[in-house]
Amino acid sequence: MKLIDTLMNAGTTPAATPGDITLATDRHHLMHPGTHAFDHSCGAVDGRLMTHAAGIRIEDHAGRSYIDAFAGLYCVNIGYGREEMAEAITAQTRKLSFYHTYAGFSNDPAVELSRRLIEEWSPPGMKKVFYGMSGSDANETQVKLVWYYNNVLGRSRKKKIIARQRSYHGSGIATGSLTGQPKFHAGFDLPMPPILHTASPDFYRDARPGASESEFVADCVEQLERLIAREGADTIAAFFGEPVMGSGGIVPPPAGYWPAMQAVLKRHDILFVADEVVCGFGRLGSRTGSAHYGLEPDLISVAKGLTSGYLPLSGVIVSERVWEVIERGSREQGAMNHGWTYSGHPVCAAAALTNLDIIEREQLVSHAADVGGYLLQRLHAEFDAHPLVGDVRGVGMLAALELMADKTERKPFAPALKASQRVAQAALERGLIVRALGTNDIVGFAPPLVATRADIDEIVAIARQALHAASDGLAGVHATRTEAR
Ligand SMILES: *Cc1c(COP(=O)(O)O)cnc(C)c1O
Repeated sequence: MKLIDTLMNAGTTPAATPGDITLATDRHHLMHPGTHAFDHSCGAVDGRLMTHAAGIRIEDHAGRSYIDAFAGLYCVNIGYGREEMAEAITAQTRKLSFYHTYAGFSNDPAVELSRRLIEEWSPPGMKKVFYGMSGSDANETQVKLVWYYNNVLGRSRKKKIIARQRSYHGSGIATGSLTGQPKFHAGFDLPMPPILHTASPDFYRDARPGASESEFVADCVEQLERLIAREGADTIAAFFGEPVMGSGGIVPPPAGYWPAMQAVLKRHDILFVADEVVCGFGRLGSRTGSAHYGLEPDLISVAKGLTSGYLPLSGVIVSERVWEVIERGSREQGAMNHGWTYSGHPVCAAAALTNLDIIEREQLVSHAADVGGYLLQRLHAEFDAHPLVGDVRGVGMLAALELMADKTERKPFAPALKASQRVAQAALERGLIVRALGTNDIVGFAPPLVATRADIDEIVAIARQALHAASDGLAGVHATRTEAR
């Protein structure tokens, strides 16, 4: 059906604004990620056309302004609308808009970016960078490198990969399998077989009642050990982990978790892939998540904050140890035939270089540590005593509230209530973007790193009003549910 017919059928009035017509076209022709297909097509999902943004604020077609306290999808680290980014992108487009990097071809921005990523933005022991366009394709590349590595070493059985329940590593075939959330598997015949899942590091939800943090860490380690023993260490190639779990609900690891987990991986000669797609480039108030937790990964994935979302770009950072094996493979088997048309895209690399310039010049890493600390302190002050907030947590410019129907009994809301979505919706109506996350009711905050303390005050104040507005409905529903028993 043509759009004009749809508009006629829908009885659109002549007073429809250009924005309304665009949204009708959107419902007609644009397939959205992670969106209820039927509800969207028939208009039950609120459409919003985002039209302008500057700093931490974004505007829609109806002139409504929002504070974006989730930095797009925790990627717009330097804030929106930077003139310097527009200039860098334009200048590179004029100079060399594209050339590929197969067979030894290269370009200035991609070379300089690789040098800076290895020398300035990676933990010690890293050697080379392979580029893609998204976090998902970076992690797909990781899976292939891990398999290639073991094939070169003649360990054809060592191919299984362990990720964690509730993790998020992307939406591809392998990466959607790594992702430890059933909603990303359902309907797609995932996870695929060589991918296994171990416990999430969520102390608040997953620890045995009464267990201390260190007891919980010991339990996580034991579960990993048991999985490795069951499968056989000679069949397990790699472990994927986000330094701080992002989309699974913003879960900072309990103290001692990473050293203990890494020791197990080392003992069994299992490669450690650090998925830094969220944690990299200042989000945690450190240059990288690996630096923050003292990780020694063999491979690192970066994306999101690498360009602050101005253009798509991802990187796979390869350690000296893995690189040596890749070189050996090429001597024995010829070139490794893996790559994308846009690997090392010069305009995306130029955007990344200017993004890193801005992060360094404005000292956004230490700023994120300072203002992020203030965010967590304000969230604790406002929500620790709130009857519907069971847990307040965060690190750097990354924080979360976990909602509970009954926090003393640790009873969650029924998922059908969509408690966290209600809070996010109430916030949106009040001009604040936060994000409902994970499989539990978690409200996530990840403002651009340029946010100030005054911005944080505004964010927390609106969040409080939103929770207040949503909690009438939620407390009511919970009460009737309890009475009905
Ligand atoms: C967003 C994300 C990805 C996937 O990145 P895309 O660019 O959406 O493909 C992978 N890992 C983590 C930790 C992420 O947050």
